[in-house]
Amino acid sequence: MCHAFLTDANFYRLLFEIDESLAEEVRARGCDCGGRLHSARYPRKPRGIRSALDASDARRLSFCCARDGCRRRHTPASVRFLGRKVYLGVIVVLLTALQHGLTVQRRDQLIEALDVSPQTLWRWRRWWRERFVQSRCWRALAGQFVPPLATACLPGSLLERLRGTVLSERLVQLLVLLSPVTTATGSLRVGGNPQRM
Ligand SMILES: [Zn+2]
Repeated sequence: MCHAFLTDANFYRLLFEIDESLAEEVRARGCDCGGRLHSARYPRKPRGIRSALDASDARRLSFCCARDGCRRRHTPASVRFLGRKVYLGVIVVLLTALQHGLTVQRRDQLIEALDVSPQTLWRWRRWWRERFVQSRCWRALAGQFVPPLATACLPGSLLERLRGTVLSERLVQLLVLLSPVTTATGSLRVGGNPQRM
């Protein structure tokens, strides 16, 4: 494995802690109707590095309004789950960001270790090119970079502009920037119902 942090449980714990703080903001705000939010996590079976994941990674943090007649679901942004994709966001980002930066051999090793099919990779690339660039999250982000980011090279073009000497640090920053795309209000609804990828 050429990216050691991918097998480091501490890396996933950090992502979980970021998700917990994003969730706490949502919980503290409460529902628009004034109701309190109760925890209503839903199960996920993320694919990726199983050995480094624990039970906390099998749940997406989410809430439900406690008030009868409302019961609205509120799902906070996440740095772990990139929409409904079955792979963890970090893996989707890494494999699509590094498609130009790795030797063919190293990339193939990573793909094989993670058991990602060529069709899945192809769908992820298409998602960046077609869906992500239409999202509200992207429109908000794009304006912050001068010179503009090359959309054809997303997410690699974004990753290389972030600060941090270590790849894992830049990946975490990138996942935080992307996290609004993981909520219904963020934009995954743009372009229709996302497929499971
Ligand atoms: Zn409510």
